[in-house]
Amino acid sequence: MKLPIYLDNNSTTQVDPRVLEAMMPFLTEKFGNAASRSHAFGWETEEAVEKSRVSIAKLIGANPKEIVFTSGATESINIALKGAAEMYVEKGNHIITAETEHKATLDSAKYLEKHGCTVTYLPVDKNGAVTAEQVKAALTDKTILISLMHANNEVGTVHPIEAIGKIAKEAGVLFHVDAAQTTGKIPINVETMGIDILSISAHKMYGPKGVGGLYVRRSNPRVRLSPVVHGGGHERGFRSGTLNVPGIVGFGTAAEICLNEMAADAVRLTSLRDRLHKGLCAQLDEIFLNGDPIQRLPNNLNISFAFVEGEAMMMGLQEVAVSSGSACTSASLEPSYVLKAMGIGEELAHTSIRFGLGRFTTEEEIDFVIQKVVAVVLKLRDMSPLYEMAKEGIDLKSVQWTAH
Ligand SMILES: *Cc1c(COP(=O)(O)O)cnc(C)c1O
Repeated sequence: MKLPIYLDNNSTTQVDPRVLEAMMPFLTEKFGNAASRSHAFGWETEEAVEKSRVSIAKLIGANPKEIVFTSGATESINIALKGAAEMYVEKGNHIITAETEHKATLDSAKYLEKHGCTVTYLPVDKNGAVTAEQVKAALTDKTILISLMHANNEVGTVHPIEAIGKIAKEAGVLFHVDAAQTTGKIPINVETMGIDILSISAHKMYGPKGVGGLYVRRSNPRVRLSPVVHGGGHERGFRSGTLNVPGIVGFGTAAEICLNEMAADAVRLTSLRDRLHKGLCAQLDEIFLNGDPIQRLPNNLNISFAFVEGEAMMMGLQEVAVSSGSACTSASLEPSYVLKAMGIGEELAHTSIRFGLGRFTTEEEIDFVIQKVVAVVLKLRDMSPLYEMAKEGIDLKSVQWTAH
């Protein structure tokens, strides 16, 4: 077993060796511009790009013609929100999203607010979920777009996409889904789920960084989006720029592997995730699951450990690559806005850890992580007067702390 152990697969994933192998020729001898129509160098790369388009479309139940290649989910999300806002300005200017979305969505929404749009940020429940009823209640006759993530990247909560898609259809409002965390991990079908626009990232599904996709529905309804990047009219005008052929080949290969292995991977990861959770619960009290206990990703476990100091815990866990519920801003340690939106107090937000499992995570690694985390938490609690008081049955809320 190699240290440190990588358990941050919700941030990025390792490129699958089979993906790298497929990419290599396109980084060496097959270097043609996929837009070059006049010679064999261009034809062979164009063919490879179209093959990837087919694999990616298949993974989400789409037609290959509906896939646009981008530089990643951040760009796809920008095109979805800004492109729809500009294209449908005569229909309306209202967008519905949620407080726990990725920054790519929130920052695009904030930008659009400065340019004449009105945005509703739906609050989430304690598990991090929004309901279809909430979405329905937020609709106005000016609503042009609903933009929600399929699953949350911090806590893994999966939104009821199919039910929301149905409401969007009934209202005649476009539905964009940020599926960066779910494509290739859990089933997606843009038809049955009523999705009109979908954002994908290759590096979250064992493909390379810097490449992604945007699904844009071509019929019932035919979605139009104003371009964000202008240029040679590549990708049917949705996204100009010479295609990243090696990246796209890697993305397509990653999609093919997911098509074949997704179901088995999900079963294996769910079992490892539950082994980790049970292992921690068996040896530690006062630990709390963040996120939905049922509607969640197979590969994510977000836990808060009461009565420990967040930074000290991260220091003690240097052999395990995880992410914490605090974000370092220049001056202070800010608790995650996702946990905050779920109503989780600052103390517990600061001591939360996101364990992101992946295709290459082993049982041996999980057992090592359990033992390591338990040891660190027990050690820190040993030094915590608060933990001692709580164990003695003192209600900490009733204690009158002296000011100093
Ligand atoms: C990673 C991620 C993104 C951004 O994707 P990039 O390809 O890195 O730009 C957007 N949304 C979610 C939910 C993500 O997890």
